[in-house]
Amino acid sequence: MKLLLKPWLALAIWTTLVLGSLGWNLHQAQAARAELALKTARSFFDQVVLTRRWNARHGGVYVRVTEDTQPNPYLKIPKRDIRVSDDLMLTAVNPAYMTRQLAELADQTNGVQFHITSLDPIRPENRPETWERLALQRFEQGEAETGEFFSNGDHEAYRYMAPLITEEPCLNCHAEQGYKVDDVRGGISVMLPDVAALPWLSLTVSHLLIGLVGGGLILLSTRLLQQAHDRLRQQAVFDTLTSIPNRRYFVENLVEEFRRGRRQRLPLSLIICDIDNFKSYNDNFGHPAGDRCLRAVAQALQDGLKRGGDFCARYGGEEFVVVLPDTPLPNAVKVAEDMREAIAGLGMRHPGASDGIVTISMGVATDDPRNPDHEALIRQADEALYRAKELGRNRVEAHHPEQSAGMSDLGEESGKGLGADSGEELGTGLGERPVGAKS
Ligand code: GH3
Ligand code: MG
Ligand code: MG
Repeated sequence: MKLLLKPWLALAIWTTLVLGSLGWNLHQAQAARAELALKTARSFFDQVVLTRRWNARHGGVYVRVTEDTQPNPYLKIPKRDIRVSDDLMLTAVNPAYMTRQLAELADQTNGVQFHITSLDPIRPENRPETWERLALQRFEQGEAETGEFFSNGDHEAYRYMAPLITEEPCLNCHAEQGYKVDDVRGGISVMLPDVAALPWLSLTVSHLLIGLVGGGLILLSTRLLQQAHDRLRQQAVFDTLTSIPNRRYFVENLVEEFRRGRRQRLPLSLIICDIDNFKSYNDNFGHPAGDRCLRAVAQALQDGLKRGGDFCARYGGEEFVVVLPDTPLPNAVKVAEDMREAIAGLGMRHPGASDGIVTISMGVATDDPRNPDHEALIRQADEALYRAKELGRNRVEAHHPEQSAGMSDLGEESGKGLGADSGEELGTGLGERPVGAKS
């Protein structure tokens, strides 16, 4: 099984999520900021319009003439100025003049600037700036209001503008300009100099921290998971007693090698081994000594592997298997012989065995293209092993499909050496015999 956990994939997903969250938060913050600026500016505008309406409904109001409030030269009405007494002179203040005065007051108080303007101003100072003129033209097309952030020196400010719609009382002063009720008579722009800045720095830093901490945790947890996975995998496919691969590993890999061998037309060989008279070894020396013997045999088999793709496994009890991809039968038999000799060469005392030492019997088979599946290969190697037991143990027997009719004595020819399967000798029932079952 290949690496399951891909930290880079988890990191890529995490980074995308964090960046997505940062983008979304910045977008939300900007939308909230624009909404707040719009509402603030709109409420200033509404206040001004309200006071103007109040003034217009009174047809203008009279206030004391002072240094700051001089008679309005643009207001051409009879009795614009009224002397009440020697020290009290009153002058009429119309909505436009009042707006101007309110604008000055607001500017001094909190820096908010109003500008009353029109495409056709009575007072030259009320001429629109470029953006105001464009807005006024859009209002005439039906736009209700406009607002935007703009760069004001070293910081961002917000400007808002909405139209002034002609109402009945307005015509007292503006009828001569040709306005009618509901006409756009002009507009008032409101400039908020100080809008809360977009918190991009704090959002970026906090997301960077979240990203780094999360990334670190992902790396740590994938590493821990990978270690746990490797440990489990190790436990799942390695035999705890002998530390060589177990039966599960054998079956999985045999199937793979079987398919590859078929695909590439390469001979796949299998050896099944069984320690001789092992029961009596246990009986003589006890189970712990039996375990040590199993470890020594496993190690000898492992050491006998010569090529990268070869592997051995504990098949169960005192039975082992050796898989040799791309190995024809004679070569596999040679490997088996070397292993058998190596185990005998260990010289482990075994009073219950005929040779007085621990020996092993082996059955070898090479995949025949006529085999329906890998189990047939196991069956053939097992049958050869069965014959090795029958013929006296401590020997290697091979399955020769093409010689299976009539050749049954090869083993005798080669002494402790090779034998060949015989259909007659084995009978049909042998295929069902459990691997390495006692003879
Ligand atoms: P044969 O030559 O026909 O194979 O005879 P045998 O005695 O080896 O065969 P048998 O199947 O009768 O006995 C196998 C023995 O292997 C029985 C069991 O006690 C022993 N055995 C199986 N697994 C283990 C193990 O993990 N540790 C130990 N110590 N013994 C084991
Ligand atoms: Mg045995
Ligand atoms: Mg056995």
